[in-house]
Amino acid sequence: MPIATVNPANGETLKTYEAMGAEEIERRLQLAEATFRTYRTTSFVDRGRLLLQAANLLEEDQQDVARMMTTEMGKPVKQARAEAAKCVKAMRWYAERAEELLADEEPPDSDVKDSNASRVRVRYRPLGPILAVMPWNFPLWQVVRFAAPALMAGNVGLLKHASNVPQTALYIEDLFHRAGYTEGCFQTLLIGSGQVDEVLRDERVRAATLTGSEPAGRAVASTAGEMIKKTVLELGGSDPYVVMPSADLDRAAQVAVTARVQNTGQSCIAAKRFIVHTDVYDAFAERFVEGMKALVVGDPMLEETDVGPLSSEKGRADLEELVDDARRSGADVLCGGHQFRRPELPGWYYAPTVIAGITREMRIHREEAFGPVATLYRAGDLDEAVLIANDSPFGLSSNVWTRDEAEVDRFVRDLEAGSVFVNGMTASHPAFPFGGVKRSGYGRELSGHGIREFCNITTVWHG
Ligand code: NAP
Repeated sequence: MPIATVNPANGETLKTYEAMGAEEIERRLQLAEATFRTYRTTSFVDRGRLLLQAANLLEEDQQDVARMMTTEMGKPVKQARAEAAKCVKAMRWYAERAEELLADEEPPDSDVKDSNASRVRVRYRPLGPILAVMPWNFPLWQVVRFAAPALMAGNVGLLKHASNVPQTALYIEDLFHRAGYTEGCFQTLLIGSGQVDEVLRDERVRAATLTGSEPAGRAVASTAGEMIKKTVLELGGSDPYVVMPSADLDRAAQVAVTARVQNTGQSCIAAKRFIVHTDVYDAFAERFVEGMKALVVGDPMLEETDVGPLSSEKGRADLEELVDDARRSGADVLCGGHQFRRPELPGWYYAPTVIAGITREMRIHREEAFGPVATLYRAGDLDEAVLIANDSPFGLSSNVWTRDEAEVDRFVRDLEAGSVFVNGMTASHPAFPFGGVKRSGYGRELSGHGIREFCNITTVWHG
């Protein structure tokens, strides 16, 4: 895949970049290692000052950076602005909290005595240069949610961003430099996915985090495994959205639409499988389909647009194949199910789609639909809803709608997912851990759990 900005709204190639060669990569790795030696000794106060400055600059750039992201990957510009604002918030959160999150821990006195020590401390020390392999779907947020905690912990970052968002990748490097970080603290490697393996094998790279698809996660984790390097993997999802009879149906259906089509449906934590109790199935389906039909599909640069083009022609073709496979196997397409075409909109659009009558044999039951396509399931009772929800290789997040506390307890106990959102849609927040189980990956980002992932958890024992 060439490293290039191609506008998904019209297919036009706006800018192409040469991948960095071996010499430039070596220069950057050397710089990362040398910078780490001094940056690791800086105080939380100094690190926090730099990160707050980066947050302030990003806040000033919000309009321009939003338009850049929309140009590169097609998300509606109002959502791109919200993404930039979320990054500012996360940067400020880590700048202010990191010291507390990484404060030395003291085990209970009885354990200290039992170890014959006069004192024991646990200290969180940085690991070194961390490689971040990131996707295009939230081109700023995915990077910031890695970079903010990593930099606050005293690590330095090397970013391999998706090949279709090079301008955003270079912008982030520049943002940190303008904020006052020395050059080696955060560097973008403009490289293709084929060059990742060699970088990851380099002993100066101490660990890696990857957000992306399962095949990419498997490739990076295999190499990291061979090299005995820690990884965090944030992979795909096909989150269930369960609606029970006691739910506020109007609200559940309204939120369902947003939960499915946010970021034009290209979000790992988008609700994708809608599992509805039979008593309210028809009423929910009617409201949901109406909501999906009412969405404004169009130019992502326009404020009124809810759903823009998919990020690539291949992304749309993959989605179309999943829908066609389900249709051929007998699924009912309740709305959409085709490309969205208008002469003035030549980009990679796909109409918001709802499909019912899903069976286990259909690919869409087990694969991630990365676009504005929802699947509807009918469940006879709570047990069946849980069975359907867990009948997926993924386990990222989950959503349940019910006003019955006993049902909430059951879902929290039984759903195989990294989070359970009750009467609301999944959203990440800097203070809460984020990540999945099963093939959605492992490790956690955000919160104290996220910042500690790339730390050397050091026991200090005093005799
Ligand atoms: P992708 O194709 O896996 O790409 C993600 C990143 O991995 C890109 O930088 C890509 O580089 C690189 N890459 C691809 N194959 C690789 C390989 N064999 N070795 C090393 N690096 C490789 O994923 P995508 O299509 O951009 O993103 C969509 C996927 O990301 C979806 O499955 C979505 O659910 C998942 N996602 C998960 C989360 C989460 O937090 N769990 C968040 C967002 C997205 P190139 O661009 O150069 O190929």
